[in-house]
Amino acid sequence: MYHTKTLAELSSMLAAGKVSSVELTQSFIDRIKQHDSDLNSFITVTEEQALAQAKLADEKIQSGTAGPLTGIPFAHKDIFCTQDVKTSCGSKMLDNFIAPYNATVVEKMADAGMVMLGKTNMDEFAMGSSNETSYYGPVRNPWNTNAVPGGSSGGSAASVAARLTPAATGTDTGGSIRQPASLCGITGLKPTYGRVSRYGMIAFASSLDQGGPMAQTAEDCALLLNAMAGFDRRDSTSLELDVPDYTADLSKAIKGLKIGLPKEYFGEGLDAGVAEVVNQAIQQYKAMGAEIIDISLPNTHLAVPVYYVVAPAECSSNLSRFDGVRFGYRCEAPRDLEDLYKRSRGEGFGTEVKRRIMVGTYALSAGYYDAYYLKAQQLRRMISEDFSKAFEQVDVIMGPSSPGTAFNIGEKTNDPVSMYLSDIYTIAVNLAGLPGISVPAGFSNNMPVGLQIIANSFDESRLLNIAHQYQLATDWHKQIPKAFA
Ligand code: GLN
Repeated sequence: MYHTKTLAELSSMLAAGKVSSVELTQSFIDRIKQHDSDLNSFITVTEEQALAQAKLADEKIQSGTAGPLTGIPFAHKDIFCTQDVKTSCGSKMLDNFIAPYNATVVEKMADAGMVMLGKTNMDEFAMGSSNETSYYGPVRNPWNTNAVPGGSSGGSAASVAARLTPAATGTDTGGSIRQPASLCGITGLKPTYGRVSRYGMIAFASSLDQGGPMAQTAEDCALLLNAMAGFDRRDSTSLELDVPDYTADLSKAIKGLKIGLPKEYFGEGLDAGVAEVVNQAIQQYKAMGAEIIDISLPNTHLAVPVYYVVAPAECSSNLSRFDGVRFGYRCEAPRDLEDLYKRSRGEGFGTEVKRRIMVGTYALSAGYYDAYYLKAQQLRRMISEDFSKAFEQVDVIMGPSSPGTAFNIGEKTNDPVSMYLSDIYTIAVNLAGLPGISVPAGFSNNMPVGLQIIANSFDESRLLNIAHQYQLATDWHKQIPKAFA
């Protein structure tokens, strides 16, 4: 029965001695063993280490030195480097990679006393919107196992939705926390760029990547962000700002909140069922005393094309380190150095990763740099300015997280453009570096729909507050897929 509880509830139960961390950890390990063959949400399960960490957590709880997260089981997306445990990034390239150090986020969550159950499946190098590009096979959506869970943090989203773990970490470069959270019916927060350290988080597109929490509720995300956030001198883009207590403002009333609805987020391409659910959620906020204001983000249509220049350009540079010499996969019996590079990269990377590297190197090549990369940077600035203008008028922006509900496995694999459009409402937020959250808001054709809320930089407390107030008034976040109830 522990699996139906939120992280906040489990935290109180642990503190009151109603359950031990060892019992809790064992119960989630048992659920993973029982159910994950249907989902494929984990790449690695670290049963022994988890039970050892749980034992230590129980000692801390008994000696009165525990924090709110001590003894809580959770899972890391397999993009975060974990010492002694494989970090694959969903790729054959890193199938044999054991990091010699922990990512800052991994260290911080361990310092908070959390218990890592394992590493979750993901799109290869976080490139994807469906979790079908993983070397370890697709992840399945617990609401319908023929459907995708979204991506790239699809393993994290599916495992939380099926209650195989109370929470998980994710990363979001163009939507990879919010889109899978939406498609799986859980809460996922992408923090402001620079809020959570990227040290030890395998780089995809460094100016966009950001780690964040995925859980059942906004309150749980607040507790997790308290542990994850903070300055890190090992990440040069990490910001030297104090970490507030993200739970402090959760109970603030919504009355007087100014919500902007961008007309571009409700136009062509948005599924009618999704639109209806999102509109109902907005009515709920209105009933709670919010003011709804129509706004425009006129450069929205440029976000996907700009992203597909900037992200591949950065990834082509970041992924050049995987050369068969320094890390990971090396081909058999290379003839010479050139053959070693070519075959190691050719055999180690999957199709989508190769596509991105080719687009990226092309966009950065001497003859095309100005036409593509430079132009994309200029447009990125314009997209960012759209948001700055909007925030002069409104406190937050609301809309759908994704244009549709979860699609079927295989449905979009041969149509990259249609796949790329799954992130049409999330990508601009990364380009502008802003925080965004996806909150379960209902169902369309029996599949979950997420409401996206976007705030100004470093306004995570407000996002979490607004999401929490909605979750006090609704119970969409409490729904559990039948097969995993
Ligand atoms: N789906 C987008 C992509 O494929 C975003 C991925 C992400 O946020 N990591 O690049």
